[in-house]
Amino acid sequence: MRLFQRLRDIEEATRPVDPETEAALARRWASLPASAKVPGQLIGRKFTGCEATHGVFPQCDFACKPCYHSADANKVRIDGPHTLSEVRRQMAFLRRERGFGAYAQLIGGEVSLLSPTDHAAAIGIMRDHGRIPMSFTHGDFDYDYLRALAVDQHDRPRFPHLSFACHIDTTMLGRTGATKPTSEAQLHDHRRRFCELFDRLRAEYGISSYLAHNMTVTPNNLDQIADVIQSCHGQGWRMFSFQPAAYIGNENRWRDGYRELTSDLVWDEIQRGAGTRLPWAAAQVGDTRCNRVTWGAYLRDRYTPLLDDDDDADRRMVETWFDAFPGNFILRSKALSTLRYGRSIARRPGVVGELAAWAGRFGDRAGGRRQPWWRLKPVTFVMHRFIDAADTAAAWDHIQAGTTATEPRIVEAQERLEACAYSMGHPETGQLVPACVQHGVLDPEENRRLAELLPLPTRRDRASR
Ligand code: SF4
Repeated sequence: MRLFQRLRDIEEATRPVDPETEAALARRWASLPASAKVPGQLIGRKFTGCEATHGVFPQCDFACKPCYHSADANKVRIDGPHTLSEVRRQMAFLRRERGFGAYAQLIGGEVSLLSPTDHAAAIGIMRDHGRIPMSFTHGDFDYDYLRALAVDQHDRPRFPHLSFACHIDTTMLGRTGATKPTSEAQLHDHRRRFCELFDRLRAEYGISSYLAHNMTVTPNNLDQIADVIQSCHGQGWRMFSFQPAAYIGNENRWRDGYRELTSDLVWDEIQRGAGTRLPWAAAQVGDTRCNRVTWGAYLRDRYTPLLDDDDDADRRMVETWFDAFPGNFILRSKALSTLRYGRSIARRPGVVGELAAWAGRFGDRAGGRRQPWWRLKPVTFVMHRFIDAADTAAAWDHIQAGTTATEPRIVEAQERLEACAYSMGHPETGQLVPACVQHGVLDPEENRRLAELLPLPTRRDRASR
């Protein structure tokens, strides 16, 4: 009987998509608005969307303008036990709601204000719940901190792989050695040094990494995007993500001119940096008014997108890929993934020829056979555009009430929130909340409560230590 059960488990786990993931994807697809149910939509077909923590360590030691956190965030002390119990509670909820296999940001606040051991424990909890954690940081820490979180007291790696998103740009005040940068170029060495920490970790302990470069875009640094990409793409970043500034979070840190930053204006500058058109319509993550994504790779200084949205064959390829390999392979063992690929291909053998044809098209675009293909470096370009807090609040009211907005700005906000690709779990209400709602609506009250629960140490507390 036990053998029969074991064989049944293996059969389920090696299906092209396992039943738990299939059910979570179906629920997610059903919840998308009609505007997002389009060919090439990854949410509900390949994954359920990205996730993030909230209220786990709100404090930060930088002063960014803008800052998406509420004014009270810095009145909450960093507290390891609180962080770990909240991360555990939120991850258990996300696991129940969204199934196994998702990307989740460990985000506050500034993650490196956690002790290295608490930081490592939080990553471990997220992995245990079937999440690939990405620590979101300003990057102002040294190798000793990184090693202490990545390696245990016996000098053994705690994890095979680490993911970090590093926010680094001129909107930030407080970085060691660049307290008030006046140009993005002044930060290129800091960007390089951050990547080198992880190169060293790999060389010494074999721990691989995925590094995302995050940059807030304002009217002041818009025309410096291209130089950031051109000067830094070879440093080791796997993703360049740009966030046009929005009126959300701490109002004291807002500046004029954010609404001048249209998506096309920002994307044009990203394309200028990449040196090529960056197609984003063949495959999309949620609503393209929130997210534009181009996957591709550099061969030396030449960037080539994986998909050309002007090419019908590439668009068809995306659908073929979704149908042949439904669900995702996140955090699955190599053996299980190999069996799943095998069963997927056996079910749809024609996919092999279609993949080969697509690879040929990509190869031609990248310069043909005589290229040093062994130097291919995958890099993803992303633009993630938050919604202004006032529009989010109005649209969230409609979603809560089950009504539909009529004013065009709010209709747009409501559709974007319903297709949200970046959610936070609230086990106490049973809700999954878009990050725009978290930062634009819920953070002020949440941080007020946390400031009472976890007040900053007083002078007397500090003196008595
Ligand atoms: S967090 Fe906001 S901007 Fe981001 S995907 Fe969700 S709704 Fe869109």
